Amino acid sequence: MNVTEFRSGLRDWLDRNDLAPGPDHSLDGQVAQLARVRRALYEAGWMRYGWPPAIGGFGGPAVLRAVLGEEVATRDLAEPGIYSMIEVLAPTLISYAPPALAAEMVPRLLNGSEQWCQGFSEPGSGSDLASLTTRAVPRGDNWVITGQKVWTSLAQYAARCVMLTRTAPGHGGITAFLVDMDTPGITVRPLRTMHGVDEFAEVFFDDVAVPGDRMLGRPGDGWQLAMDLLPHERSTCFWHRIAHLYTRLDRLLAETADPDDADLGAAYLALHTARCRSHATQRRLADGAHLGPETSVDKVLLATAEQRLFDTARDLLPGVMELTDSPWRTEFLYSRAATIYGGTAEIQRNIIARRLLGLGKD
Ligand SMILES: Cc1cc2nc3c(=O)[nH]c(=O)nc-3n(C[C@H](O)[C@H](O)[C@H](O)COP(=O)(O)OP(=O)(O)OC[C@H]3O[C@@H](n4cnc5c(N)ncnc54)[C@H](O)[C@@H]3O)c2cc1C
Repeated sequence: MNVTEFRSGLRDWLDRNDLAPGPDHSLDGQVAQLARVRRALYEAGWMRYGWPPAIGGFGGPAVLRAVLGEEVATRDLAEPGIYSMIEVLAPTLISYAPPALAAEMVPRLLNGSEQWCQGFSEPGSGSDLASLTTRAVPRGDNWVITGQKVWTSLAQYAARCVMLTRTAPGHGGITAFLVDMDTPGITVRPLRTMHGVDEFAEVFFDDVAVPGDRMLGRPGDGWQLAMDLLPHERSTCFWHRIAHLYTRLDRLLAETADPDDADLGAAYLALHTARCRSHATQRRLADGAHLGPETSVDKVLLATAEQRLFDTARDLLPGVMELTDSPWRTEFLYSRAATIYGGTAEIQRNIIARRLLGLGKD
């Protein structure tokens, strides 16, 4: 199926099948709504296009997944950040897990029966991810994991975690596993964000025994896995988020008393620039290009556009962010995280300076 047929068939189906969220905007409600949307889209087949038949997909170009996420975001059917996690975790499993494990697990993520999380960051290792210290040591047929992760989004809802551990020194000593979150020895403590939501968590691992066949790749492949994950995050996920931000721009235009304000034009331009860049990235991905450090430009453009949009909303809707509990306030506060998650703005600019422009060290 080509993109045009897919999009028109999908739109038609979405017009006939009401997946609009209910009144519960809590995180519990959002996660339940996400599962409902995934299940319905999977059962109707839409969620299976663009994924390989080996994991139950219908095949076709990956760009169909970008189109699906764009429609979901444009109709506000699911919170885009948590919807898009699938685009990071499922391709990683497909590339690195033993084929039988990927075939068993990935459909559970696609069909909404499970939520997963990504355990990379640690208290001492965020930007400097390669310094992570959560240990995995072999014991019989198992690997035993001890250590702590932090900022693990949706860990309290997750059935499984794609996580990085240390099995030897250096970048080549990082090893990834798919860990069942109900394994004895795992403790999840939710953390509250400044927008008032327990979106992420600390996760403690105390002698957690993980079967050897849950290793993703081979010992030492974890750093490469982390690098391979970035292109997924910076292509399809960004496309979804940009679609979401356009809905907020439209909403702002409808609500402001001053739709001709120059700052609105600047916010539109920033968003459009991010979209053009993301479009080019999608095309390169479709052409089989290997995405690398140039996607740091996408990250900077998107985070800048998101924060400019919500800064403009704050200025044009006086008092709404500061004095009300409206969704504008929540989304304004969350937009501050755009320059942190997925690699901070400073780190992206270091990468652009060093690796793209050859300007020397940090
Ligand atoms: C909403 C949200 C969701 C997240 N979800 C997840 C998740 O699901 N899984 C996960 O593993 N992680 C997640 N994270 C964590 C995220 O990846 C880290 O916060 C991020 O990588 C930064 O690491 P840090 O917080 O340890 O900050 P640090 O690395 O300690 O950085 C602190 C400050 O120092 C600056 N800095 C650090 N090094 C340099 C340098 N060399 N040059 C210039 N400036 C520097 C940084 O830019 C930053 O401003 C999430 C974060 C947020 C905000």
